[in-house]
Amino acid sequence: MTARIIDGAKVAADMRAELKEHVAELKKQGIVPGLGVILVGQDPASNSYVTAKERACAEIGIYSDDNRLPAQTSQKDLIALIKKMNADPKINGILVQLPLPKHLIEDQVLMTISPDKDVDGFHPTNVGRMVVGEKAFLPCTPHGVIQLLIRSSVTIDGSHVVIVGRSNIVGKPLANMLIQKSPTGNATVTICHTRTKNLAFHTKQADIVIAAAGKPNTITADMIKPGAVVIDVGVNRIEDSTKKSGYRLVGDVDFENVKEKASLITPVPGGVGPMTITMLLYNTVESAKRNAE
Ligand code: NAP
Repeated sequence: MTARIIDGAKVAADMRAELKEHVAELKKQGIVPGLGVILVGQDPASNSYVTAKERACAEIGIYSDDNRLPAQTSQKDLIALIKKMNADPKINGILVQLPLPKHLIEDQVLMTISPDKDVDGFHPTNVGRMVVGEKAFLPCTPHGVIQLLIRSSVTIDGSHVVIVGRSNIVGKPLANMLIQKSPTGNATVTICHTRTKNLAFHTKQADIVIAAAGKPNTITADMIKPGAVVIDVGVNRIEDSTKKSGYRLVGDVDFENVKEKASLITPVPGGVGPMTITMLLYNTVESAKRNAE
């Protein structure tokens, strides 16, 4: 069996087209969704993520308030800016690009963002709401994974999902979303990590394997059952002298071999990646809608 490839860029483009229509509807009511963006320092990767997020906002009609601050910005000034954005009715969502420079206290910064504008879904209030199944801003990457599954007609309800990785931004929230008593949940979930004994024993039983370990070749073909759905969240740089940059991006899954055994699989790049920014746009539009209500 050769797997069908899930085209994350196509799913993301479809969702962005839908969001663009929602934004146009809101504009007819005089509402322009706004995203406040804060980047501290000049890290090239963070700079390009922020630029991509702002470009995506512009494409669907979201206003973005761009704030590129010097690396030496103080905790006090950063917190003051977030508080100003919390009070600004033009801003529906606040994005602080991580990681922050070492002298800044990340937890304190993220806790300052109003839970009503926390479009990354990292604030403990939103995490708590998500866990108890209340309306919350869902974190973008896990929510993007669920949208990819739904829009690829994968049955989550009743499936056994094995997640490799237990981070606060991917593994843990994803597991929580998948066990919710809801049409997009109802899965039986196993979470694996570096202290898991015999990872393959678990992954071989999965209807859906989700890899979020941050290590190439964590999932190989002998570790999945025939016909499984495989979602690769990992993004790893490996050296490649044939590339101008000297590297290429790979996921956590041995894509070439696993695709011969799986029924559906996401590539890297072009799988989960394009969904993450899309879900940030989704949360910003949702926030604007909630405000309008
Ligand atoms: P992280 O904080 O480093 O967490 C990695 C998790 O994987 C940890 O729980 C770790 O276990 C577990 N793990 C690592 N190696 C393992 C192994 N060999 N067997 C079993 N478990 C293993 O990483 P993250 O922030 O969740 O990100 C994971 C990957 O997703 C990274 O490659 C990241 O770049 C990528 N990512 C992509 C997107 C996107 O938009 N596409 C967004 C976010 C993250 P312990 O807890 O025991 O250490």
